[in-house]
Amino acid sequence: MTTEELLQYDKEHIWHPYTSTIAPLPVYPVDGAEGVEIILKDGRRLIDGMSSWWATVHGYNHPVLNAAAKKQLEKMSHIMFGGITHEPAVELAEKLLGILPPELEKIFFADSGSVAVEVAMKMAIQYWQSQGKSGKYGFATIRSGYHGDTWHAMSVCDPVTGMHGIFSGSLPVQYFIPQPSVKFGEEWDEKAMRPLTDLLEQHAGDIAALILEPIVQGAGGMYFYSPTFLVRAKELCKQYDVLFIFDEIATGFGRTGKLFAWEHANVVPDIMCIGKALTGGYLTLSATLTTKQVADTICSGEAGCFMHGPTFMGNPLACAIASASVSLLLESGWQEKVKAIEAQLQQELAPARSYSNVKEVRVLGAIGVIEMKEPVDMAVLQRRFVEEGIWVRPFGKLVYLMPPFVIRPEQLSRLTKGVLKCIGN
Ligand code: PMP
Repeated sequence: MTTEELLQYDKEHIWHPYTSTIAPLPVYPVDGAEGVEIILKDGRRLIDGMSSWWATVHGYNHPVLNAAAKKQLEKMSHIMFGGITHEPAVELAEKLLGILPPELEKIFFADSGSVAVEVAMKMAIQYWQSQGKSGKYGFATIRSGYHGDTWHAMSVCDPVTGMHGIFSGSLPVQYFIPQPSVKFGEEWDEKAMRPLTDLLEQHAGDIAALILEPIVQGAGGMYFYSPTFLVRAKELCKQYDVLFIFDEIATGFGRTGKLFAWEHANVVPDIMCIGKALTGGYLTLSATLTTKQVADTICSGEAGCFMHGPTFMGNPLACAIASASVSLLLESGWQEKVKAIEAQLQQELAPARSYSNVKEVRVLGAIGVIEMKEPVDMAVLQRRFVEEGIWVRPFGKLVYLMPPFVIRPEQLSRLTKGVLKCIGN
């Protein structure tokens, strides 16, 4: 198949994320990827600034992860999880429980981030139902959040920036409060808790859980907020009998400078979702964790168990790769790497602050965000980035970098210089 034939067939038949079938945005044919480079079919090499949407923290085509995949393939790539268990799942569970808050003792493996969020929300509903409090069906969340594309996950995405506003008439209506007004690094102001306090005072009887992305809101706005918000929110949840769910699908595995974002506040949620970088970006796998108390309460109810069990639950191939990826991360000196990326992003993105079309530049961990004053023309900007030899995919007003942790300083400089050159006016 020639590249032209490939592109033509793709254009006529294949849907890409958030893209029109009438006027599809261009797609770039990729042949392979290695380390932090994406290799286009025409031989050009692009420095990856996206980690394939937060996932490929170790870069592409990593020998350790490749070896783990091959080893597991020789044994079995999949087996049902109903009535069966296996080493890859048990080993991974043990590793994850060792790096997550000790209170979270029970782990449910699922197949994608969105499903992990659905699982978390179902757990919250069953938890209250088991105690005869069946009116608690609703969820509270903060504006500008993003939790995935499936039904209940969509309902807690920001109705405007979360890309799902179109479905608002048919989705369950949830309780939204403004995003935390105190930014990360700013002095705490207790007034930031007023909206949540008011909401819980009035509606806690209808609310099963408060769900949010701790510290860093991803696809809904790339916003960083004060850890104290989580401390106070946890107190309020306790006071008003509402569970607290952390969606760490994007923030997990070192991206924000801590291994998981809960550590910024030292606040342990009742339920936590992880995904994306869990397999180092090799395969789709996610997990929802909770406490023994929540799990046992769910299972002491009428149903006698938690009502969810996907076909690919605990997929051995994904678990084996995830296990290798977690070990690799822990042995990789990730903290120094992320710190160095943070310092370089701070320094090299700073000049954009003086651009007349830039509203704000913010950096936390291995995440650098340039918020523009107006939405960008994604197709045009994307083409410009590719011409500069970098892979950066902006959305709305946000141009952002979250490179693999293995990026070298000169590669990161190519990314930051390329971005500044392309957005400069
Ligand atoms: N939660 C968060 C915070 C996310 O960033 C995403 C993905 N952008 C999801 C959930 C959904 O994950 P997935 O795309 O794997 O379903």
